[in-house]
Amino acid sequence: MKHFYIFALLAALSNTAFAQNYWQQEVNYTIKVKLNDKHHTLSAFEEFEYINNSPNSLDSIYIHLWPNAYRNGKTALGKQKYTSGEMELAFGEEKNKGGIDSLDFRVNGKTVKWTYDKKHIDICVLYLPETLQSGGRISVSTPFKVKIPSGEISRLGHIDQSYQITQWYPKPAVYDKNGWHPIPYLNQGEFYSEFGSFDVTITLPENYVVGATGDLQTVTEMEFLTALAEKTSKEIPSMLTNTKKETTAFPTSSSVYKTIRYTQDRVHDFAWFADKRYAALKGEVTLPVSKRKVTSWALFVPQNAANWQHAIEYINDGTYYYSLWNGDYPYNSVTAVDGTISAGGGMEYPTITVIGNTSSKEELEVVIVHEVGHNWFYGILGSNERTHGWMDEGMNTLNEVRYVQTKYPNNTRMSDMVLNGRFHFDDLDHHDLNDISFRMTAILGADQPIETPSEVFTSTNYGTVMYMKTGLVFTYLKDYLGDELFDKSMQAYFEEWKFKHPQPEDMRATLERVSGKDLSWLFTDLIQTTKYIDYKIARVKTGASGTSVTVKNVGQVAGPIEINALKDSVIVETVWVEPGTQKTRVQLKSTAVDEVRIDVSKEIPELYRNNNSWKSTGLFKKVEPLKLEFLIGDNEANRSNIFWTPIVAGNVYDKFMVGAAVHNMGIPFNKFQYLVAPMYSFGRQMVSGIGEFSYTFSPQNILKVSRFGLSVKSFKVDSSSTIRKNEGAYLAISPYWQAKFKNERNSPISHNFLAQGILRYTNYGGLKSDYVGGFAGYSVDYKKPDHVVNLKIRTDIISGKAVEMGRVTIESIYRFRYLKNSMKRWIELRAFIGNNYYFKVKDNSNTYAYSMSLSGNDGAQDLFFENYYFGRGTVDGLWSQQRDENMGGFKSTSYYGTTSNWMGAGNLYVQLPIPKLSIFGVFADFGTFYNGTSVNSAINAGAAIRISSVFGMYFPIWMSKELDASYGNSKYGEKIRLTLKLNLVNKGLKLGIGE
Ligand SMILES: [Zn+2]
Repeated sequence: MKHFYIFALLAALSNTAFAQNYWQQEVNYTIKVKLNDKHHTLSAFEEFEYINNSPNSLDSIYIHLWPNAYRNGKTALGKQKYTSGEMELAFGEEKNKGGIDSLDFRVNGKTVKWTYDKKHIDICVLYLPETLQSGGRISVSTPFKVKIPSGEISRLGHIDQSYQITQWYPKPAVYDKNGWHPIPYLNQGEFYSEFGSFDVTITLPENYVVGATGDLQTVTEMEFLTALAEKTSKEIPSMLTNTKKETTAFPTSSSVYKTIRYTQDRVHDFAWFADKRYAALKGEVTLPVSKRKVTSWALFVPQNAANWQHAIEYINDGTYYYSLWNGDYPYNSVTAVDGTISAGGGMEYPTITVIGNTSSKEELEVVIVHEVGHNWFYGILGSNERTHGWMDEGMNTLNEVRYVQTKYPNNTRMSDMVLNGRFHFDDLDHHDLNDISFRMTAILGADQPIETPSEVFTSTNYGTVMYMKTGLVFTYLKDYLGDELFDKSMQAYFEEWKFKHPQPEDMRATLERVSGKDLSWLFTDLIQTTKYIDYKIARVKTGASGTSVTVKNVGQVAGPIEINALKDSVIVETVWVEPGTQKTRVQLKSTAVDEVRIDVSKEIPELYRNNNSWKSTGLFKKVEPLKLEFLIGDNEANRSNIFWTPIVAGNVYDKFMVGAAVHNMGIPFNKFQYLVAPMYSFGRQMVSGIGEFSYTFSPQNILKVSRFGLSVKSFKVDSSSTIRKNEGAYLAISPYWQAKFKNERNSPISHNFLAQGILRYTNYGGLKSDYVGGFAGYSVDYKKPDHVVNLKIRTDIISGKAVEMGRVTIESIYRFRYLKNSMKRWIELRAFIGNNYYFKVKDNSNTYAYSMSLSGNDGAQDLFFENYYFGRGTVDGLWSQQRDENMGGFKSTSYYGTTSNWMGAGNLYVQLPIPKLSIFGVFADFGTFYNGTSVNSAINAGAAIRISSVFGMYFPIWMSKELDASYGNSKYGEKIRLTLKLNLVNKGLKLGIGE
């Protein structure tokens, strides 16, 4: 997927040569189809002419049979849905599934041999009886029947008698300079198809309202639609007063059938939608350049009239602006239909788009404009959406955001729409929301390059990188080139590549040639890698002859840098630093400037913006003014946002605590983060609390994220009555380094590393328990839908007043789904080995904390303060049972099996197959340990209730003799084990090792 370029003449020359050699295949379809709306099936006959414009001769043709994607859970679609937790194809009812059959392919009238693709039943290969020579053409025909699946699965489907007929007919795969592109149908991952013409005749009951690709050729149907549009215009007011929003019932299907015909050339797909309930609106838009008129249609169900009443305006405005910026719309009609699409908010087809449920007019407008915009980016510029999804989705997002900014300047209603103005995000517009979403993904180290095949993207990155980052990157280019030159470049790209298959290198060649700029920083760094942008103002000097500004590139992309000089908050001068420099001094003409900023408009997708400003006044010229806000909000570019919230907490010794948390974790995160939460402790009668500080790097070598942090905690730790002297309390100071390894190909394997030190001071009851130490842990995770493996290797070293200890532990957990039906029940297998390979006792009365326990550690054994405990030092009562499921992992409360030598254990947990209740399970633990003189073992088995990974209760049913004996005469209730994991704060601040 990676391409490397030599810029300038060579690229320009090779492009000219390439453009002359460009060829593409042509497919011209004639399809006759009849809808059976009782059985939800299509019966059809298709004939297509296939013209081989390639320089090669062909012996076979790949054909897509995409309705077969809906056959079962084993198709590529079925597997992708399963991975995302949607099981309808794997375990759903047969009536909701779909497929295509009754195929009988003939070439030039003669029956031919064909076979299904070995891996994908939604692809087949046709073996041509005679080689199709370069320049030759053949006619391929076949009847076919489609069982229409449930519309809740993906893009082809029906909801009752509302039909979305998309990706529905046998269709040749693309053959281009890189060979054949047969692709199985996917939900996440769109299409790549050959251009040609369609002549489609649809037969269905006459009271259906149909929207389809192309020009309607049937006069009576055009009259029917026009009359419906007139009727709808009159009825809109009464539709709006239908406050109950009751769903319009499906009228009975007419027994009379109608046959309607559509034709369209220079397109690569044909879709149609049919619903008897549809209302219609008809309009017209005059194109900005050619002044040609295009007819617009909106089809919707009456109960959605409130949102759809102005749909024609959205369709017209979208068509107008996309034409203005990219090139005139080449077809005669543009249609949006209201449908239930489960593959996202909407889906594009040539000249027609289907829109899913929307919650407001604003959302409907954005979705309609986006989908109409796909006529340019996918429809006319027919890029390969499966491998270069950004070429359509990303370029379309750019235009969609520009549309919102152009039509609604300074309007932040888009963010209000998403977040209802909650928190402090109300200063954000449509562009800013994309900006924040992408930067947050990148700062967490979870992003992938823009140039990533659709099926390799994580579902988050499919949105935040492929759509959003691409939009941001090209907005940056537009800002740098200026609207005029940018539009000229995009229009040239449109003219050169319309009705063709442009590749990324084609787009780059045109944009570089027309703009006259080297765009390697964009096409190489920003598109093909996850390298990040960060520019910084290093120095500003004002003088009588002007202002000199030194900017530094502290990121990894050497792109152009925008510098703005301001006077009284108004921009007086803007200068662009050309790409490629690490540190530059720029001379501005303006004098008496009181503020210098990098990129005031926030159109450069920098990861961090808090090093972008300089002010002439104030004590700290590069420090931004503070802004205190409640709870959480966004980190603004020119402010230091601080957030606060009151908190209450409690534990056995501090009793009730009340205080405040103050932090700077606005979104997206800063490099430096802090959270300080001091609380007044009624048990200690002074302040307890926590402080967390961290600094994050995005190194981009083998590490994706590297974070240094310091965690400070102080709480009371015994129930002594001595208070206010800081007795019976601890102070733990833990510096740490945490690293996340790169995983750009969305591999199921991920690696994490965590090293943490500790310095603990305690002051209670004469016990010498201060210590210093550290651990280093490495964790590998493997995640597939039905299998999760985690392996952790860790070594601890502690030097305390009581004990000096060295320990190594290995823990592996394998979870697999044993019930592969809608119940999703899991089995968990765990193995543990630990060895205190060095153990030097200095104070014999206090060795317990340094030992390992079969039943996992309690608060005293949590030497590195990795969990929160209600009673860290309790040895009896309810809170002493709050143990971690580490070490021996026994679900018992016994202290039997505490050793300062070695220990091994195996644990089994099975979720019971009780419908709807996954909280019940059974467990069995086996452990063995050496107590210094002999090797001992223990077994414990019973039943359990588990609620997520936070809460667990374990009821022993059978235990081995020694373990049972360790309870003495205890009541059964004391054998019930309670597990409570409270390290939620920790998880929020750290990436979590193995979590
Ligand atoms: Zn899209």
